[in-house]
Amino acid sequence: MIELDKVCKTFYLGDQSVHALDSVSLHINQGEYISVMGPSGSGKSTLLNMLGLLDQIDSGRYCLDTVDTTTLSEPERAATRSEKIGFVFQAYHLIPRLSARENIELPMMLVGVPPKERRHLAEQAMTRLGIADRADHLPRQLSGGQRQRVALARAIVRRPKLLLADEPTGNLDSRSGAEVIDLIEELNSEGITLLVVTHDPQLGSRAHRKITMVDGRIASDSSGE
Ligand code: ATP
Ligand code: MG
Repeated sequence: MIELDKVCKTFYLGDQSVHALDSVSLHINQGEYISVMGPSGSGKSTLLNMLGLLDQIDSGRYCLDTVDTTTLSEPERAATRSEKIGFVFQAYHLIPRLSARENIELPMMLVGVPPKERRHLAEQAMTRLGIADRADHLPRQLSGGQRQRVALARAIVRRPKLLLADEPTGNLDSRSGAEVIDLIEELNSEGITLLVVTHDPQLGSRAHRKITMVDGRIASDSSGE
């Protein structure tokens, strides 16, 4: 499903440069459940952003479902992101002035999903995540666990094949965190490919495949590649 071949990403700040991804090669099959661990600054978020087509790679190749993503135009990248990829972040990234329902519908609106279909898909996702009764609440009127459920509903509303989660439980108490993990593991058992970045060794060890990054490189991969 995912094929990374010698992917590099360098950030420049003044006269300093950081190799956030230093020739990363990786093969991921549909349905895998992978944790990504490693020290702060080792490139975990950069890897996820790149897999989520939120950021461009400098060199190398990233193929998603046999499509070489480096050949896609920006509108094509946006369409792929919307159809195939869901993203959840530690800080939720909800828009404060929009209700839960509007936050979930917004990405679909941006790529032209018709209003009726948007509404229906959003209802389905909210019901599934147990937040249907919070549809008209603003993010600040929700608990942290509910906010992360809204963010998760937004991520999965179009039934993506790939779910990328960057420290999804980092801001939650242990009970809300466990609920969010149960939900994303349930999605994985239904076939979604799951990559979870975490600093929590317990959460990391739940994955079927464990990747550790150090200095922009994959230092270990339990799949033995
Ligand atoms: P953490 O565990 O703290 O979240 P991380 O493994 O997710 O760390 P990244 O965010 O991927 O690390 O960052 C990798 C390196 O790239 C770091 O040295 C960081 O300072 C640098 N970096 C990331 N984004 C940028 C940016 N937009 N501009 C400049 N440098 C960046
Ligand atoms: Mg990070």
